[in-house]
This record gives sequence, C-alpha cells and structure tokens, in this order.
Amino acid sequence: MNTTTIAVASGKGGTGKTTIATNLARVAEMQGFDVSYLDCDVEEPNGHIFLKPELEKTTSVFVPVPVVDEDKCITCGKCKEICQYSAIALLGKTVLTFPNLCHGCGGCVLVCPTGAITEAGREVGVIEEGIASGIKFVHGKLRIGEAMSPPLIREVRKKTTDGGLNIIDAPPGTSCPVIQSVRGADYVLLVTEPTPFGLNDLKLAVEMLRVLKLPFGVVVNRADVGNKAVFDYCDSESIEMLLQIPDDRRIAEAYSRGKLIIEALPEYTAAFELLLKGVTFAQPQS
Ligand code: SF4
Ligand code: SF4
Repeated sequence: MNTTTIAVASGKGGTGKTTIATNLARVAEMQGFDVSYLDCDVEEPNGHIFLKPELEKTTSVFVPVPVVDEDKCITCGKCKEICQYSAIALLGKTVLTFPNLCHGCGGCVLVCPTGAITEAGREVGVIEEGIASGIKFVHGKLRIGEAMSPPLIREVRKKTTDGGLNIIDAPPGTSCPVIQSVRGADYVLLVTEPTPFGLNDLKLAVEMLRVLKLPFGVVVNRADVGNKAVFDYCDSESIEMLLQIPDDRRIAEAYSRGKLIIEALPEYTAAFELLLKGVTFAQPQS
C-alpha cells in the first residue's frame, strides 16, 4: 500500500492554511482514503476547531537537557565550546545550564571528559490523538512560553499512518519548525493570498521548497482581492496553480463558526475533490 504525505504550508499566518488542510482531509475521508490529519502548527494548533475530534490519548514530549555534577566537573569548558545554542556557560568555576535554550543534541554529554553531565527530560509540550469522524487526528501543543517546537513537531510527524494519506498542517513561515514539518512530504501545498505581502512570503516559501527539493503547487485564497502579481509570479516560475478560492463572505462566516467550507457550502466540494486529485495519484483504500 502507498503512503502519501501532503503538507500544507504558507509563507505567513492567516492565509487559510488550516482551512485548506482540514477540508482536504475531510474530502479525502469522504472518498474512502485512510486519512490522518497531523497538526504540526504546535504553537497555535486549530485544526481541531474544524474537525472536532474526540481526543483519546495525551502523551508528554520531553527533550533531554544536561545536568552537571559539580563534584565531577573540572571546569574545562568543553561543553560550553561545543554548544551551538549558548545553552551552557562557564562562570568562574561554575557551569550554568539554560534548559530553555537547549536543543537536546547531546553534544555536551559526549565531549565531557569526566562524565560530569547526565541528561534529564524537560517537557516541551504534549501530543493529543483521537478520531474525527473517520479521520485519525493528531496535534501537538507546545507549552506556553516554550520556544523549542521542532522536537514536538518531530513526534507529531512520527504518527503518520503507513499506507494511508497523511495531511500535515505545517506552521506558518519558513524557519526550522516549517522545515521539520514538510520534510519528507510527497507534495507541499502552499497557500497564499494575492497581495504584496502574500507574494513576498510565497517567494520565500518557494525558495525553501526548492532547496529541500520538494514538489509543490499553490492555492490562492481570496483570489479575487489584491492584484495579479502572485499569478504572474507563478506563471513566470512555472509553478502549478491548483486551486483559487474566491473572497466569499460565507466562507469567512463558516470559518468564524468553526465549520468546514464543504460542510457549510457543499458547492465547494468539487473544488476540493479536484485539489485532492491534483496532489495525489494514490487510490483510496476501500
Ligand atoms: S545538549 Fe546540545 S544544545 Fe543542549 S546544552 Fe548540550 S550541547 Fe547545548
Ligand atoms: S565538559 Fe564536563 S568537565 Fe568540562 S566544564 Fe563541562 S561539565 Fe565540566
């Protein structure tokens, strides 16, 4: 059986990324795909508002952070030197650690010549799993004030279903958390708006995906507002335009009520079916 992973990303927040990801997941489920929706937008997951899952399981996610045994430490400074994130410092004869900055790479443990460093788990967030009317639902929730989202995203990504269609809702932007979310996807859908800001962020996202060598296409939301620059750019770069969604007031209303577009406005179902066809050649499992 084929496993297909589609990531839905956007250069910036507020472009309708979750709207696309959740409607796509529902349409795929209606067509008989074995669908998993994985919300990697762990700072602000909101796919649950639209898919309304029954959550059944919560798991904490930890990153290993160093703990220094002062009795064994000879203050050689090797741990401080190797740490790329300034998460460990030497102040006089004392080693200070800054767990919030630590990426849990384990480098300091490896270089410590006296075995003075051990590791302790620091909780960065939780993963919640459940079922949303036939869709396997997973999201990560980063602890408030926590900056270290990639380890949590990595754990959400591990929940993909073998042999199924996995839809990843990526965080906005083009930094580490996004790369962690889209890595290994079979296709990336970039959601944008036809505005100067939309175009700017789209270009950055396209650059990122080209570096990652991932196939991608574009969905333009509120396609009839703004200007033509996004369309001209996609044309000139031969970027596939998969769907254009108009600025329909009823869509905004459905969104504000936590409704999927295809539930509130079934006339849009065919458009999402076409989008699904455009991003996967996989067949439903039933
Ligand atoms: S585990 Fe890595 S990131 Fe954390 S303090 Fe050690 S070297 Fe720095
Ligand atoms: S590497 Fe080990 S011995 Fe050296 S300063 Fe760090 S904790 Fe102390």
